[in-house]
Amino acid sequence: MPAQFIDGKQIAEQCRLETQRQVAALHQRTGITPHLAAILAGDDPASQVYVRNKEKACAKAGLRSTLHRLPANVTQQHLLALIHSLNNNPDVHGILVQLPLPGHLDTVAILDAVTPLKDVDAFHPENVGLMLQGRPRFLPCTPAGVMRLLSVSRIPTAGRHAVVIGRSDIVGKPMAALLLQKGADATVTVCHSRTPDIAALCRTADIVVAAVGIPHFVRGDWLRPAAIVIDVGINRLADKLVGDVDFDAAVGHVAAITPVPGGVGPMTIAMLLENTLNAARLQLKHEDSAVS
Ligand code: NAP
Repeated sequence: MPAQFIDGKQIAEQCRLETQRQVAALHQRTGITPHLAAILAGDDPASQVYVRNKEKACAKAGLRSTLHRLPANVTQQHLLALIHSLNNNPDVHGILVQLPLPGHLDTVAILDAVTPLKDVDAFHPENVGLMLQGRPRFLPCTPAGVMRLLSVSRIPTAGRHAVVIGRSDIVGKPMAALLLQKGADATVTVCHSRTPDIAALCRTADIVVAAVGIPHFVRGDWLRPAAIVIDVGINRLADKLVGDVDFDAAVGHVAAITPVPGGVGPMTIAMLLENTLNAARLQLKHEDSAVS
């Protein structure tokens, strides 16, 4: 039986329409338009494309966005000063620092400088801690996008064995945490570069989430016919983008699979829009409680 194709592009569009509706309602009620400030340091071509896509998505959903472009040789001090000014600007609700930053910058110190209330990527340790405790302020965009793909596609996770390949702070670790949390209730195995026989682990999985960054890392014969396969990878080959899963080999015999492009990528942006809307609401609540 051919695999069900999990259409991230279409699901992301549904999410965007809902965000657009809620942005308009917030504006009507309060006069406020959620505003995302993005920081792009240097001229990494992939980062330029990602930031442009985020700006376009904001405009489509009725959010404001401002791009702060900095030269590749920007100093740590200059970048921190910009973040402090955005933190203190009541007109800005979400702050996004596009990664990777140029190598001379201290990425951890820069991400930590973003105030947790505007941390729409959910990278700040306070937000990571809240997520791990199951009381999130913001959910990290890519793992949240995967969870939304699963729920909208009515793919249950409770009691199922999920194998997450990759343990980065941005994708693998939070992905495992969200699958494990109460309500999602998966049993989670996390694999990384020191894990022996990932193929054998995948063959026991109901759900495989690949976030490795190696083209076609997951082979078709690693996957059970009942497997749900979520491919987070975005790898640039000569003339196209491919995922971490050998899509052509997998699609013939798994139960469902996300394509690359058009799977997890659009969902990441959709979740960023939701986080920016929620950041605006949160800051309104804070202002109200400061006044009362
Ligand atoms: P990352 O920080 O490079 O992490 C890669 C992870 O894969 C690491 O945990 C690493 O293990 C593991 N790994 C590397 N080689 C391995 C091997 N041979 N066997 C098993 N595990 C191995 O990458 P990332 O930021 O998590 O991103 C992963 C992929 O997702 C990339 O292709 C990226 O472009 C893509 N991505 C997509 C989206 C989206 O919106 N769709 C968002 C973010 C990232 P160690 O920890 O042991 O080194």
